[in-house]
Amino acid sequence: MGYAYDDQNIFAKILRGEIPNKTVLETEHTLAFADIQPQAPVHVLVIPKGPYASLDHFTQEASDAEILDFNRTIGKVCEMTKVETKDGGMGFRAITNAGVHGHQEVPHLHVHILGGRQLGRMLPRD
Ligand code: AMP
Repeated sequence: MGYAYDDQNIFAKILRGEIPNKTVLETEHTLAFADIQPQAPVHVLVIPKGPYASLDHFTQEASDAEILDFNRTIGKVCEMTKVETKDGGMGFRAITNAGVHGHQEVPHLHVHILGGRQLGRMLPRD
């Protein structure tokens, strides 16, 4: 079976230039752009350019170069959006949803970088 990837998902269309986006940073293997429905003053999505559906897919099957570039881009986005923890900065939350239990809506790996306000606990306590 393996991992499935649907190339009609909305982020695949963004990568092909079929849908516009507000780009924050683009590198060889990675694109970072503003979330269309921001849930915090800073809400950026970081996606690999390759066809990976989720974080487990990416971390198992992407090349070292793609993984390195993706992680470095997350760091650069934190710096550019001024949410980094360096020099007493206020910090951020990085979230990636995967599959059914993760409530993933777009089946192309994306890491949400959220910040600019107090985000509260990671999950509500039931
Ligand atoms: P998830 O539930 O983790 O799959 O999150 C999907 C995210 O994609 C949501 O935060 C949406 O607001 C965001 N989103 C959906 N369509 C677009 C788009 N065209 N441009 C930017 N962000 C989008």
